[in-house]
Amino acid sequence: MEFDLQKLVRENIQKLTPYSSARHEFTGKASVFLDANENSYGSPLEEKFNRYPDPLQWQLKFQLARIKGVPAENIFIGNGSDEVIDLAYRIFCNPDKDNVIVCPPTYGMYEVSANINDVAIKKVSLTPDFQLDVEGILNAVDANTKLLFICSPNNPTGNNMAREDVEILLNNFPGIILIDEAYINFSKQKTFIQELTEYPNLVVMQTLSKAWGLAALRLGLCYASMDIIGLFNKVKPPYNVNGASQQLGLEALQNTTLVNDWITATVAQRQLLIQQISTLSFVEKIYPSDANFFLMKVKDAGKLYSYLSDNEIVVRNRSKDPGCENCLRITIGTPEENNQLINLLNNYGQ
Ligand SMILES: *Cc1c(COP(=O)(O)O)cnc(C)c1O
Repeated sequence: MEFDLQKLVRENIQKLTPYSSARHEFTGKASVFLDANENSYGSPLEEKFNRYPDPLQWQLKFQLARIKGVPAENIFIGNGSDEVIDLAYRIFCNPDKDNVIVCPPTYGMYEVSANINDVAIKKVSLTPDFQLDVEGILNAVDANTKLLFICSPNNPTGNNMAREDVEILLNNFPGIILIDEAYINFSKQKTFIQELTEYPNLVVMQTLSKAWGLAALRLGLCYASMDIIGLFNKVKPPYNVNGASQQLGLEALQNTTLVNDWITATVAQRQLLIQQISTLSFVEKIYPSDANFFLMKVKDAGKLYSYLSDNEIVVRNRSKDPGCENCLRITIGTPEENNQLINLLNNYGQ
């Protein structure tokens, strides 16, 4: 299939002259910086944050490139994945004209961000076993369809999307496909970031908010062709990732061993929890999970939710999501937290 990126980009973005920051315009060697109206004396902190941060976060990208095996030029970093999602709308979707495809039940931000940007949504539900309806998706495409969001492992269902289905879509969907891999670290499935050279319409999103334990730093990762990365850089706010997050993110990325140990522990705890919970009489189904949470169907989700919250455990009631009636989504905690949950569930309804 022929792919013309420029044809998908909004005309105002094609024509946009991006903001040029003070430090961006100067390329020589300097030791005195009187160009950006900063406070030259310092910051009222032990750490100094008086200088504007690197707009393109190169240090962080070089370290990510090493870990992920992807060139730094193919990485974009957003203020959380939420910014990456919003930028995709602003780059590709004309408000009140274009549309995108989402596959519910899935992550809510794709729809919220569409509504904020006044972009129409076409919903093609997942199949009863929460897989992609490939034919339904391709049938839903029209001349104004710009984006397709695929979440794998999917939130809130926890399962991977079949790789063959994603590949069919990558070969046949005429717009940009965003694969959200927020939970890829917990999955048996291989990431799609090694396929970037194969698919010019592919954008892969990951995040440091889940496995990496940095949700508060807001570091959303995005991998794509250099042309697509260029568009994200053109449209983003100049300093979208703050200096403290860049510094702490870089520090955290040195600690891969610790994070890998946590991933192993989480996956083991997931198996244990699912095993123990699946024997309980009020549990109708636990859906297979490749994430750090699982979805379970019970007799009365509202009642169980209240029971747990009365006992200071908060979970997510997904009953309103299509295909998720009476379903709770439960995050895997520490062994102690999981034991607390199991004990409460063992005493429920007696
Ligand atoms: C948690 C989550 C994210 C992460 O969002 P951030 O803005 O990076 O914290 C992205 N996608 C999905 C599906 C998620 O569940």
